[in-house]
Amino acid sequence: MFTSVIIPAAGFGERMGAPVSKQFLSLHGKPILVYTLERFQLCTAVDEIIIAAQQATHAQIEFLVSEFKISKVSHVVEGGRRRQDSVSGALRHINPKADIVVIHDGVRPFIQQKVILESIEKAKAFSAAVVAVRVKDTVKIGNEEGRFERTLDRSLLWTAQTPQTFQKQILLDAYEKAKRENIEATDDASLVELLNVHPAIVQGSFDNIKITTPDDLDFANLIARRFKD
Ligand code: C5P
Repeated sequence: MFTSVIIPAAGFGERMGAPVSKQFLSLHGKPILVYTLERFQLCTAVDEIIIAAQQATHAQIEFLVSEFKISKVSHVVEGGRRRQDSVSGALRHINPKADIVVIHDGVRPFIQQKVILESIEKAKAFSAAVVAVRVKDTVKIGNEEGRFERTLDRSLLWTAQTPQTFQKQILLDAYEKAKRENIEATDDASLVELLNVHPAIVQGSFDNIKITTPDDLDFANLIARRFKD
């Protein structure tokens, strides 16, 4: 089995309001992206890592990859306008031998080995697997008049995180369909669901946050201090 990992890291970080893209911000002296890459470098089931990033950041990424000895990185490729475009571009570079493709946000540095491994195992068995946590709050549907229409059954609701892991051909078919039919999605699994594939749920952790805004960075500094794998 050959497993490729795609790390979309081409976001501009507008919501962070910092002069550098959020994946380069530092937690205890180390860039967020390096934490993320180290999780997959360490994982015995991973064979290659492809990073999608804006061209202007390639030199910086290549420096970090060499400095922190992330030897599994096979390509740093050009990112796209939307996350979906970044992943789609990276898919063109995966090793032809790949059976399994893992997609993980560059700005989720606190992913545990056991969760990565379970997502790979479940994707082998069930075509696709998505790391997720149960929704803690009550979720309601609002309307344009500022009123709630109804309340969803919380026992069925999950917040999707990454990694999202797929058998390669299913992912390629899903991206092909999205391109053909102009479908936009905020995660990869929703494209695969349109092919009637139902991804397996992998129970994640509330520590596996996506660092998006300045308060996420404060929280990330706290998690970094106590993160154990
Ligand atoms: O901001 P967002 O939630 O979409 O970011 C999730 C991940 O996708 C981040 O790691 C970000 O760098 C990446 N991304 C990307 N290309 C884009 C937008 C976001 O690779 N055009």
